[in-house]
Amino acid sequence: MKNSQERTLVIFKPDSVQRGIVGEILSRFEKAGFKIVGAKMLKPDYDHYFKHYEDIGKMVSRRGKKVFDITLEMMNEGPVIAFVLEGVEVVAMVRKMVGTTEPKSALPGTIRGDYAHMSFAHADKHEVGIPNILHASGDVEEAKAEISHWFSEEELFDYETVHEKFTQKRKSHKKS
Ligand code: ADP
Repeated sequence: MKNSQERTLVIFKPDSVQRGIVGEILSRFEKAGFKIVGAKMLKPDYDHYFKHYEDIGKMVSRRGKKVFDITLEMMNEGPVIAFVLEGVEVVAMVRKMVGTTEPKSALPGTIRGDYAHMSFAHADKHEVGIPNILHASGDVEEAKAEISHWFSEEELFDYETVHEKFTQKRKSHKKS
């Protein structure tokens, strides 16, 4: 990983996989210049999601056991596609592009604002999960823990992208 770059975890949830919109959303991240350094489709088990949402994300303490249970039910509806993205302050940038948790409150232009519309009120009343397209790490520490939970070192790659020409210090060209 180059100087001053970060990595973040993005998971396309069953709703975006089943709607067939993974490609067009992923292209937003690619166009912003983030580098895909890991990618895979998987259908994790209960323990994997428990570690992700509770041990790392502290979801039960933040939102309660009931929300945790219905979110797990929603995540178990099908496979997910996980990506690790790399770039300058990528963690905060990706969260900004994704938008707030509740699609109803997510601003137009964000991924959740453009591709979803569910409210907390509706989810609570009908006891359903909030299909909000994707998960993205909340902060740098969480990103580190999540990436090592979802990907092994061997599944992460390093290569040059054209964007790095502009995000890294230029080599000086001496005149002969
Ligand atoms: P975020 O995904 O934005 O980081 P959280 O970590 O708080 O948000 O919640 C994880 C996921 O749980 C959300 O993305 C959403 O799918 C689901 N969720 C959160 N709160 C609720 C709720 N009140 N009712 C149903 N599902 C919820």
